Amino acid sequence: MVWFSRMNTSTSAFLEPLSAAFAHALDHLCPKTKKSVAATATLDELRSRLCFALPEEGTTATQVITDLVAGVEGGIHDSAGSKFFGWVIGGSLPAALSADWLTSAWDQNAALYACGPAAAVVEEAVGQWLKELLPVGPEASFALVTGTQMAHVTCLAAARHRLLIARGTDPEIDGLQSAPAIRILTSSEMHGSIVRAVRLLGMGEKNLVRLAVKDDGTLIPQALEAAMVEDPSAPTIVILHAGDLNIGAFDDFQELIPMARRHGAWVHVDGAFGLWAGASPRFRHLLDGVDAADSWTTDGHKWLNVPYDSGYAFIRDREAHRSSVSHRAAYLTYDVDARDQIDWTPEWSRRGRGFATYAALRQLGKAGVAQLIERTCTCAHALVTGIGTLPGAEVVWKPTINQGLVRFLHASSEAQESDHDSFTEIVMAKILASGQAFFTGTTWRGRRAMRISVCNWQTSLSGVAEVVDGVANILREARR
Ligand SMILES: *Cc1c(COP(=O)(O)O)cnc(C)c1O
Repeated sequence: MVWFSRMNTSTSAFLEPLSAAFAHALDHLCPKTKKSVAATATLDELRSRLCFALPEEGTTATQVITDLVAGVEGGIHDSAGSKFFGWVIGGSLPAALSADWLTSAWDQNAALYACGPAAAVVEEAVGQWLKELLPVGPEASFALVTGTQMAHVTCLAAARHRLLIARGTDPEIDGLQSAPAIRILTSSEMHGSIVRAVRLLGMGEKNLVRLAVKDDGTLIPQALEAAMVEDPSAPTIVILHAGDLNIGAFDDFQELIPMARRHGAWVHVDGAFGLWAGASPRFRHLLDGVDAADSWTTDGHKWLNVPYDSGYAFIRDREAHRSSVSHRAAYLTYDVDARDQIDWTPEWSRRGRGFATYAALRQLGKAGVAQLIERTCTCAHALVTGIGTLPGAEVVWKPTINQGLVRFLHASSEAQESDHDSFTEIVMAKILASGQAFFTGTTWRGRRAMRISVCNWQTSLSGVAEVVDGVANILREARR
């Protein structure tokens, strides 16, 4: 009886705020009227509504949700929607979002099997499924982390371990003080998260070498060979790209990985989004040879359309992986049946982040993942060519996968490059202000360009056609 009445209390405590959140979530995801894709509130507006001294007295849960929704009004991008093409950002599949809600409701601490048995087993299943889909070695160990940033840290910690153990020093026990410097060779197109991983791991940014790329954005093999030959005994990590951030370039794995391995380097692959091309028969060839690498990273929260935060690390050398991140003594082998996540991730307490990925993969199935990848690539191509062939626009990079670049040209016949740069900025600002779509800019090979990235499961060709029409009108006006 006592038990029963407690259940009633908690039911009533949760029912109203959760129902309010549910209604607001549906309003956001399926608005009844058209809303701006870009946030419209100013910084001052948001601060004036949201930042104030914490009141002495609390508020009812439902009121908190109602106030929160009112407070953020105009400050939420529709990055979950079909017309958001900024940075590299995916939405959330319905199953993944629902499972993410349950993850919070269940509130498991997914550090150990003991703390969350089902969470641990679901992660095990997810690791297996990801290895079936992605071109990483089937024997690889894996970790579910916050994103590619921490996946880099996880993989490079394993690399550091293996390279230094081979030189007679154990970085986990001895530290780096007396260890030889590890050299990190990568391309000029690398993502900043690599720099940060190198810094966090004490490997030193000055040891990171940015090698030249070809016109197609891929690392020049001779540049890698020359760098390796220059200092043949240095412990070396080579970081290659499966989809660089600007144009989605894929390094030539078939040539570069054997070359790096010949020199004893550890090869790591940044595949934050591009590794997913391996799940599609149409694009798989871009990744030929990538499975010969030592470690790979990718995200769930970008192209797979899982809510933040969801990244995956895969490491061929399980022992190096475990020795570098497990909190247990590295020289002991624990023989337990269950998989304790704490042995593989750099976190202690953590969210049961396997549930959302599990749900996304179950909703899509293998064929659905391939279709998602292919559909978004088709849409990216249509969007880049659609906008890029408008009068006054230019294709800067036609997508190989789902990333492309366009720019806008100043109408004057005497226009210089700098005029095109500033006109590109103007048109981009007008598109954002129109609320019709969301794009972000970049400077690529010295020119300003608008990036086009299609990652959302809801983006369709008819939506793309609407966006192209909208941009055509804005461009026509701007060139008058
Ligand atoms: C997004 C991205 C990263 C960083 O990933 P996070 O999930 O944001 O940590 C690294 N590399 C590339 C190529 C990316 O696109």
